[in-house]
Amino acid sequence: MNGKEPNKGSLSKKVLSWHKLNGRHNLPWQKNINPYKVWISEIMLQQTQVSTVLPYFKLFIKKYPNIKSLANAKLEDILELWTGLGYYRRAENIYKTAQILKENYQFKFPKNYEDIINLPGIGKSTAGAILSIAYKKKYPILDGNVKRVIKRLFAIQGSANNDSNLWTLSESILPNKNNDIFSQAMMDVGSLVCTINNPTCSMCPLIKDCKSYKLKLTKIIPEKKKSNLIKKKKIYLLLIQDYKKDNFILMKKNNKEGLWANLWNLPSFSLKKELNNFVLKNKIKGKVKVFKNFSHNLTHYKLDISVFHIKLSNKLIIKNYNWKNIYDKIAISKPILITFEKLIKEIENANGNVR
Ligand code: SF4
Repeated sequence: MNGKEPNKGSLSKKVLSWHKLNGRHNLPWQKNINPYKVWISEIMLQQTQVSTVLPYFKLFIKKYPNIKSLANAKLEDILELWTGLGYYRRAENIYKTAQILKENYQFKFPKNYEDIINLPGIGKSTAGAILSIAYKKKYPILDGNVKRVIKRLFAIQGSANNDSNLWTLSESILPNKNNDIFSQAMMDVGSLVCTINNPTCSMCPLIKDCKSYKLKLTKIIPEKKKSNLIKKKKIYLLLIQDYKKDNFILMKKNNKEGLWANLWNLPSFSLKKELNNFVLKNKIKGKVKVFKNFSHNLTHYKLDISVFHIKLSNKLIIKNYNWKNIYDKIAISKPILITFEKLIKEIENANGNVR
């Protein structure tokens, strides 16, 4: 065993050769590459797995094949396409960026780092991915997958585990050419081989250089996040079904700020007694029943969600609330999507298709 430093000079060559045979080459954003597709895919891939992103990306590019078509879209339309993908701030940032590209860049994606990093929702790693993959420039990336590879490769733990050190290391292993392929190859090493749990080191092009492998540290690098830091939050949702049409639900559009901004939501409360007061205050007639309990993870906390259901027995109008058809395409969060999926199943089991 020895813990000597990896030979940086030969790493990129090994990663590039490995990628030729083992990397992913048929992802939709790898075909007819352009900065627009790389930008959209990189934003969608932030904190989201490739398999989840695939159908969303295909739909998105079909509906908005270029910057011009996107810049003419309404925020509501982009949010609707984003339904279920999570981290909705990303969709808002795409909308804002499209407006900037329209106003300041004649619908063209900028080519230099300073302009790109100033666009909403684009951090250092996304900028590096766009510059390397779309423009073949020599820029490092440090998304979650690459960060894990770098940490393990150089056995980075404890106080050395800061991002500026990791950026320096990520930059130090860049090749002088083929940076477009190298960025994708490093992401592939992270997601296909150097996985969070049980990395398959025997299949890794970096095995001979990897300090964590030599020192048997792959289980403790990267350090696991302490689970007791995850906060829990309780929310109560009220699913109010119209007295005549089962597929019409009472909803309200969220404010422009806060969790699930601009999305359509069910009446939502942090305490059960607030839900009860809402029912009493608005003279809502019908039996309140438990509909579904489930949890939903957000970046910094876990939501514990209880959905209650009322089938109305008479007409109801509440200020600022609208009746929405659950079969219509509207922008909603994942918990509302989960709730509607269950409701649709129940309606179709009971009545057949009511669309
Ligand atoms: S040898 Fe193992 S731990 Fe090291 S980079 Fe490769 S997969 Fe990751």
